[in-house]
Amino acid sequence: MNAKALRAEKTYNEINMRLRALSLPFFLNGWEEEHMPPAAKPYRNKQIVELSSMMYELQTGKRYMNAIEELYACREELDPVLRHEIEEVKLSSDKLARIPKTEYLAYQNVLLETYPEKFVKAKSSGDFSVVKPYLKQIIAFNRKYVKWEETDELKGYDVLLDEYEKGMTTHKYDEFFGLIKSELVPFVKEVLSVQKPVHPAFSGRIFPVEKQKKFCEYLGEVMLFDKSKTMIGESEHPYTNNNGNCDVRITNHYYENDLASAIFSCIHEMGHGLYELQVADELQDTMSGGGVSMAMHESQSRFFENNVGRSREFWQRHFSVLKDIFKDELDGVELDDFVYYINHAEAGFIRTEADELTYPLHVLIRYEIEKGMFDGTVTEENVEEVWNAKYKEYLGIDVPDAGKGVVQDMHWYGGSIGYFPTYALGSAYAAQIFAAMNTQFDVYSAMGDENIGKIAAWLKEHIHKYGSSKRPDEIFEGAVGAQFNPHFYIDYLKNKYSNLCGLSK
Ligand SMILES: [Zn+2]
Repeated sequence: MNAKALRAEKTYNEINMRLRALSLPFFLNGWEEEHMPPAAKPYRNKQIVELSSMMYELQTGKRYMNAIEELYACREELDPVLRHEIEEVKLSSDKLARIPKTEYLAYQNVLLETYPEKFVKAKSSGDFSVVKPYLKQIIAFNRKYVKWEETDELKGYDVLLDEYEKGMTTHKYDEFFGLIKSELVPFVKEVLSVQKPVHPAFSGRIFPVEKQKKFCEYLGEVMLFDKSKTMIGESEHPYTNNNGNCDVRITNHYYENDLASAIFSCIHEMGHGLYELQVADELQDTMSGGGVSMAMHESQSRFFENNVGRSREFWQRHFSVLKDIFKDELDGVELDDFVYYINHAEAGFIRTEADELTYPLHVLIRYEIEKGMFDGTVTEENVEEVWNAKYKEYLGIDVPDAGKGVVQDMHWYGGSIGYFPTYALGSAYAAQIFAAMNTQFDVYSAMGDENIGKIAAWLKEHIHKYGSSKRPDEIFEGAVGAQFNPHFYIDYLKNKYSNLCGLSK
C-alpha cells in the first residue's frame, strides 16, 4: 500500500471506531425499550434521531467517503477480509449518501412514531386503521428508496431483497416459494386431516412461569450460553441483540398456559446468540464482526429450534429434567406424547407460534404481499383484505381481526420490507446444513449429548467464526459443499411429518 492508502486506512479505522461507539446507545435503547417510563419516549426519540443524524454525517462525510474510495482503488493489495469489507462498506455508504438527509431523518421519525406505540395499540385493539396512515408513509418511502438505489441488475423489490440477503432476487425467491406452494400447501392439508389430538395435559393445565424460567436456565447450560457473556431478559416478542461477541442478550416471553412457547423461543434465540458468541475475536474491531445475513442468522436459530430442539433424540436426553421440574403438571405424560405435542401442526393465525410445517406458508403469504407493494397491486388500502384472503387460501382459516392478522408482526411497522422471506430461506438453509453436518458425524447421536458442544464446534468452524467477512452464499456453500438446494428442506419436512403421522411417502 502506498502512503496515501495507509493514511486512508487510518482514517477509515478511526471513523469506524466512532461508528461502533455510536451504535452502543442504540443497543442499550433497544434493551430498555419496554422497561422505561412511557413518558420518557418523546424526549428520547429526539435524542435517537440526533444520534442517527450524527451517524449519517460520519458515514456520508467527505473524510470517510474519500478514505473508502482510496482503499477501494487499491483493493487488490488488501488482505481478503479488509478487501471484502471495503467493497461492502463502499456499497452501503454510497447507498446512504443517495438518500437526501432530510428525507432520511423524517423517515426515522415516522418509524419512531409508529413503533412501538401505534403498532402496539393497533395490535391490541385489532384495529388496522390505527397504523394505516403510518404504513402508507412507510410504503411510500420504500418505493422512493428503491428508485434511488436501483442498479442495472436490481430493480424495485429486488433492491430490498438483496439488502436482507445478498444475492437473493424475486426470480430466485419465486422459484423457492413456488416449490413451497406446490409441495407443501397440499401436504399441510393432508397432515391436518390425519393428525391425532395432543395429550390433554397440554391444554388446560397451568405451567408456572418460575418453573419455565428454571428450565430455560437449564437450556442455557445445554446450549453453552456462557453466563459471563450473556443475559436473558423479558419482552413482548423474544429477540436477540449483541454488542460484540462478549455481550449477547436474548429475551423471552412466558405464558403459563403454554409450555412450549418459552422453551422454543429460548432455544431459537440462543441459536442466534451462539452465532454471535462464536464470531472470531480478530473480527471484533472491524466492520465484519457480526453474523453475515438475516437468512444465515435464521438458519442458526431455526436449526437449534427445529432440527435439534424438536427432535426425539434431543428430548430423549432432556425430557427427564423437564419432568422433574414439572412433576405434577406433566404427570402421566410420556416422552412420545411430548414429542408429538411439540411437533403438532396447526393452521393458526400467528407466524411466531406456528409449527415447523406450516411456518413457511406464513412467510409465503408475506412474500407475496410485499411483492405486491412494489408492483402496485397492494397498498395500505387493500393490504388487510389481501392478507385475510391469502390466509383463507393457503391455510383455510378466517382471520378474526388485524391483531391476529396484518398487525401481528412488527417488521413493516419498523420499516423492514424484504426481511420476511429470509425466515423461510433460513429454515431451508438449516435443513441443508444439517445434511452436510451429518455426513461428517452422526448429528442425531450428538443431539443426545449432555450439551450441544459437538454441533456448536462444527458450526463455529464452518460458519460462525467468519462473521460477515465473506458473502453469505460463499459461507453457506463453503459449509455445505454445494449450492443452495431447497429440496433438502421440502424432503426433511415431508419425511418428518410422514413419520410422525404415519403417512405413506
Ligand atoms: Zn430468529
